[in-house]
Parts: sequence; C-alpha cells; structure tokens
Amino acid sequence: MDRTQKTKHKRLPIALALVLSVILFSPLQAHEPKTQLRAGAATSNITLPLGARNGGVIARGGAAKNIHDELHARCLVLDDGKTKVAIVVCDLRMIIRDVTDAAKKLAEEATGIPAENILISATHTHGSPGVIGMHTDEIDLWYSDFLIKRMADGIQRANENLAPAMVGWGSGSSPNQVFNRRWFMKEGAIKPNPFGEEGEIIRTNPSRMSKLLDKPAGPVDPEVSILSVQHSDGRPLALIANYGVHYIGGYKGGSVSADYFGVFASQVESLLATDSNDPPFVAMMSNGTSGDTNNVNFQSPKSPSKPWEKMTAVAKELADEVHRVYKTIEHRDDLSLSAATTELELGVRKPDEKRIAWAEKMMTPKADDTAVKINPRHVIYAQEALELGKFPATVSIQLQAIRIGDIGVTGIPCEVFAETGLALKKESPLKNTFTIELANGYNGYLPTAQDHEWGGYETWPARSSYLETDAETKIRSAVLELLKEVAAE
Ligand SMILES: [Zn+2]
Repeated sequence: MDRTQKTKHKRLPIALALVLSVILFSPLQAHEPKTQLRAGAATSNITLPLGARNGGVIARGGAAKNIHDELHARCLVLDDGKTKVAIVVCDLRMIIRDVTDAAKKLAEEATGIPAENILISATHTHGSPGVIGMHTDEIDLWYSDFLIKRMADGIQRANENLAPAMVGWGSGSSPNQVFNRRWFMKEGAIKPNPFGEEGEIIRTNPSRMSKLLDKPAGPVDPEVSILSVQHSDGRPLALIANYGVHYIGGYKGGSVSADYFGVFASQVESLLATDSNDPPFVAMMSNGTSGDTNNVNFQSPKSPSKPWEKMTAVAKELADEVHRVYKTIEHRDDLSLSAATTELELGVRKPDEKRIAWAEKMMTPKADDTAVKINPRHVIYAQEALELGKFPATVSIQLQAIRIGDIGVTGIPCEVFAETGLALKKESPLKNTFTIELANGYNGYLPTAQDHEWGGYETWPARSSYLETDAETKIRSAVLELLKEVAAE
C-alpha cells in the first residue's frame, strides 16, 4: 500500500468503514472465495533402452530392436486452491501397481499432491513393454526404476507449470474405428478351449468374413470424450481424450511404438498449435473401456496396409473429430475438484487340483505325447495355470474417481469391457463421465459374469485374466459409489 492509499484510507467516512467491516466480517466471509482453477502439463520421455523386454504378460514379446517413435508419460495437474489432482497417461502396454505406487510416492514427496489423488494409466500400446514385474534381467529392472522416476518427474514438472486455467467438456463420435471382437458363432464353429474343454459359445477375434459369424457378443462405445484445458487467455494447455479401442497395431517386428495414442497426441498438438508454446501444450489419448473391442471390421475384407499406416489413419480421424468438437467447447475457470479412492478385495480364480495335474502333464511331455507339439496354446495356458497356482486366494485392487467440475474420470486397473464403461456413463451422478482402464495397476481382463459363462479368450484363466467371475459387478458398483462420493463433495 503506498502513501496516497494510506491517506485515503484515513479519510474514509465512518459510515462507509462500518459498511465495509460488516461485509468483511459477516458470516459470508466464511464462504470460500471464488475458485480460480490452475493447471499445468508436461511430457516425460519413458522410452525403453534397446534390449529391454518389449512385451506383455502372455504375449512374450522379445527384446526391443528398434524405436519407431518414442514413448511418453503425459501428465496433467489441476489445482482449485483446495484440492490438487494429477492424471498421467503412459505409452505402455500395462503397468503393475508396485510401479504406479512408487511413482505416486515420489511425486507426492516432490509436489504435495496426495498419492490417492494421482491417476497413472497405460494406453495398452502393444509396441511397448508391459511393466509387470516378471522380468529380472538387469536391463528390465533398470527400466522399471527409470520409469518410476520419469513418471514422478513428469508430475513434478506439470505441477511447476501450474498457471490460471479454464476447463471445458466436449463429446465427439468415431463409430467406424471400433468393433466388438467377441462373436457368437454358428453351430460347430467353436473349438475346445486351451484346457481341452468344450461348450464355450464365444470366439474372440474370429476369421474375417467367416461364413460362421453370427453376431457380436457385446456393444461398443463410439464416443470420443474430450477434457480440454486452456490457459486463462484461451491458449490450449492440455487435452485428454478418451476412446475405447484396444490398440491399432500394424508395427514392424521388434519395433517400439506408442501406437495411435502417440500419433493422436502429435496430431492434436499440431492442429491446436499457437504461436506461444511455452510451456508446451500436451495432448493425450487415454484408453477407455476396450477389453472386448478392437479396430477389426470382421464383416469386411482386410485392406492391405504397410506398417504404421493404419495407426496413423485412425489417429488422424480421431484428431480431426476432436478438432471439430474443440471449436464448440465452452471453458470455465470456476470449477472445483475432488478425488476418492477405495480398495476392493476380490477372489482369484485359482486352478483346482485337476487343472494343476493337467498343467503339469502339459509341461512335462513324454516322448510319445504329441499333444504339446501340436498345440503350443496348451503349453502357454499350462504355464499360466501353474503361475496362477502361486497367486494368493484374494487380491486387493485400487479403484479411483476424480471430479473436475461436473466431469467424472474413473480409473480401473483392468481391461474393462465396453458394456461396463457404457453402464458407468449412464449411471454416473455426474453430467459427463469416462473411464480410464489399466489405471493404477494391472489386474487383467474384466469380463462380465455373463461373459464368463459364454467363454472366449478374455475369460481363460491366466495372469491376464484371474479375478473372480463376479469382479465386474463388484467393481462397477464400487466405482459408482466413488462417483457419488466425489459428486457430493
Ligand atoms: Zn489387451
């Protein structure tokens, strides 16, 4: 306060001073000041070193031989003055909870953002490692440690970029890039499962144009959800899109790639580019509920494409749709935030004695036993049965909901089916909701109880599918409870 103001203050008429003191000290003063949202974003390079394992759980990918495009952890931090939240989308196939927890702990120490307010997810690009804690080679262990530090660094840097911001919501649609991959087949088309059991009525990824196709077993969600963040002057700050397609693929063997998720980010970044890009605008595509969907139109012939072409085309279509919707989005700066997490204890579908005996037989074939030679699938699932035998009877998983104004973002550590995501959108108490799958850990596929009865790849017990058959029902209702909790805050 300078001298002139001081003098003026002294001269305030008593009546005016009284009025002012009433305003300043009235109970209304207890009310929070108008929220001024702040946001910051940053991108952290998480590319693995050549030679580290580039695969998933049962995919058994070999070592990375070439980097086609770099992998990133894309980070957004939001702060309403009372609550801070962070959302991180990583170009990885999946990430175990040990790694996400360790990264959150480091980030919390550096920024003060509570670990339970941080969501860290994998996009499910298949051109990347699945960080699943199974590999003990020095280079893979080094990569896990590197990853934890780089994720935490990204959150810390996004936090340091916090600046006055506005948030808006948009909804687009891309119905031509997503198909349900689980099919009911005509009589006699389904072979016994890898355990030699008959009676399943679903085939995952059937042959294209097969005369035996009946109809898809589940829905798809064509919505492209858009959470847009702008600086207070209207420049783009960050954008999180959400779409439910498993991944696109079409890589060259041994190559590392962020798949269409990475191409989408660069496309949106160039479509929305402005003269000022300091700090850089960060776009990201989070994976929605895509456990039973992919980009294959089973009723049309395959059109030939060179490596990398398909993912670029899909990314371009989605980026154009986001760009179209972006122009209509209204942004506001007076939104409040809240976040909630819960732990849910779920049973594990452990192998029974009969399955273990079958698995041991498959793993130790006699010279005259041709079963193993003619069906390597049996060997994979036998090994998986033995691995599941070592699992505890129950596991605890983390579920999460974050509210940004009237937008709900939920995190589930599974490959969630489209049906579950659609149900959560419909039943959410918030106006706009989307789910990020493979968030805060990795607990495999999440078929519905009905899908477990029907069978198919996603239900076959393995380290990629082991939660109890009621897990989907329990997870869906726990996530809805979290949404109600954050909506009420
Ligand atoms: Zn998958």
